[in-house]
Order: sequence, then C-alpha cells, then structure tokens
Amino acid sequence: MFPRFCIACGDRLQPQEIEGRSRQVCPSCAHIAWENPVPAAAVAVCREREVLLCRRTISPYEGLWGLPAGYQEVDETIEATAIREVREETGLIVKLTGLVDVFTTPDDPRKPSLLVVYGGEEVDGELEPGDECSEVAWVSLDELPRDIAFANNRAVLERLRTGESRAW
Ligand SMILES: [Zn+2]
Repeated sequence: MFPRFCIACGDRLQPQEIEGRSRQVCPSCAHIAWENPVPAAAVAVCREREVLLCRRTISPYEGLWGLPAGYQEVDETIEATAIREVREETGLIVKLTGLVDVFTTPDDPRKPSLLVVYGGEEVDGELEPGDECSEVAWVSLDELPRDIAFANNRAVLERLRTGESRAW
C-alpha cells in the first residue's frame, strides 16, 4: 500500500528523490515515509516425519494450508514472534530448534515481508486452531497437501520432505 498522508502531521505526502529513489515526503514537517518489508516469523514444527500445518481462514491464500506464521510486534524478538504465533494458531507451546531459512516474500499482496523460518518441537499445550485457521493438523511429509500457501512454505516443506539442505 502506497502511503498518501503524513503519519506525523496528516498533510498530503509528495514524491521526492531521496537516496536514489522516489519516496513519499511530507512538505510540512519533512517526515519521510520510508517503506520497508515487514519482519515475520514462521515455524516448521516437526515430529518424526510429520509437520504441523494450519488451514488459513484469512487472505491471502484463504483455505490453503501453511506453516504457523505471523508479523513481528514492535516490542518482541523475532524468536518470541515465532513461539507466540505457534501458540496462537495451533495451541502448542514449542521450543525452537534452529534456523531453517530466511525469505523475502513477494507473493503476499498485503506487503512484502522478510520471513524467518525456524524449526520447532512441541513441548506442551493442546492442539486447537486459533482465530486465523479452521484446522490444525500433523501432516506426513510423504502426504503433503497440494494446496500450500506461499512459495516459501512450499520450498520449506519440499526440503523437509527430501532432507535436502538449503543451497546458499
Ligand atoms: Zn508531516
């Protein structure tokens, strides 16, 4: 979404070239509406050859399966985001087991995000779908659904299935 008004004073922003590209700048207070991807976290919670997936009830990719994930709040670490999102969307308490990948996500119409994907293991809680999903399930890596949301989720799940490590 393109910002049109100044968040500091409410005046209408105007394009101005700053640091080599056109940015939206406030003519009254000189506030610059910097636009950056939003940090987000996802977790591949694994149990032997199963992974925890959620069926989304929100756009984009409503009705498709995906890893529990969400945006980082301003006052939390990205690791805390990951653990919170799993608890909110699946009911499970997890511990993170490592970094799986970091993606720039172009296929989210809301805003480009920088998605940090962790591995995780269940330590407590009970499986219960949260507000943004209709179903949560342990799914066999050998029987993954075809309707998976986001190219990055598909890439992570395919790598978990084959056991391939990330090529850097
Ligand atoms: Zn302003």
